[in-house]
Amino acid sequence: MVQSLQGIGMTSLRTRERMIKRLAEQGITNSKVLEVMRDTPRHIFVDEALASRAYEDVALPIGYNQTISQPYIVAKMTELLIKSTHRHLKKVLEIGTGCGYQTAVLAQLADHVYSMERILPLQRKAKSYLWDLRLKNISFMYGDGSLGWADYAPFEGILVSAAPAEVPDALLKQLAISGVLVIPVGMAGRQVLQRITRVSEDSYDIEQFDPVIFVPFLSGKE
Ligand code: SAH
Repeated sequence: MVQSLQGIGMTSLRTRERMIKRLAEQGITNSKVLEVMRDTPRHIFVDEALASRAYEDVALPIGYNQTISQPYIVAKMTELLIKSTHRHLKKVLEIGTGCGYQTAVLAQLADHVYSMERILPLQRKAKSYLWDLRLKNISFMYGDGSLGWADYAPFEGILVSAAPAEVPDALLKQLAISGVLVIPVGMAGRQVLQRITRVSEDSYDIEQFDPVIFVPFLSGKE
């Protein structure tokens, strides 16, 4: 029994080490991000039938027409959020908890993560996975992320994992000065990853990165 459990642990650590090597080859350089992704079991966030594919560089279904982002995108977005190896994040807002994998990565790099999801059963599952990993510096809200989470604003970082046609105003307003919003923007088929830095009270700097494929950012709750 113990032996077989160890076997599973070792296999998945080895598989994660291969994933990390691939991420580095794909251009991910932030060592903290790579370390956290090496240490976070990704297979527990997907259905058992898909667990063996959890470390491939693909998006996988998590139910309710949603997907867990591919490892490269999780790494890239997290790296963009952190900006440099010395950046310490106090409060991070995540829109689109989904299965909770990105949440787990963020919770190991920030003091506290505020995570919003509009599909209740997905949020419930994510909560239980994150509880199993003993990650406790996370607050969850079932709600529409286009409103942000004003009670805890401003945030040093905001990460959005669904694509709106335009950046929601509330998220821009809830960024701290020099805070960073990482978000896929655009209609299906023409989305691009953006990093928006709040330079001052009323000015923002926009940088464009990889073309991406995300599920749509939807309003309201389900
Ligand atoms: N990071 C997640 C991504 C899941 S897919 C993961 O790796 O599992 C994107 C998620 O965003 C979905 O769960 C979807 O329900 C959620 N979402 C889309 N629009 C939203 C909105 N306006 N507010 C909150 N969540 C939203």
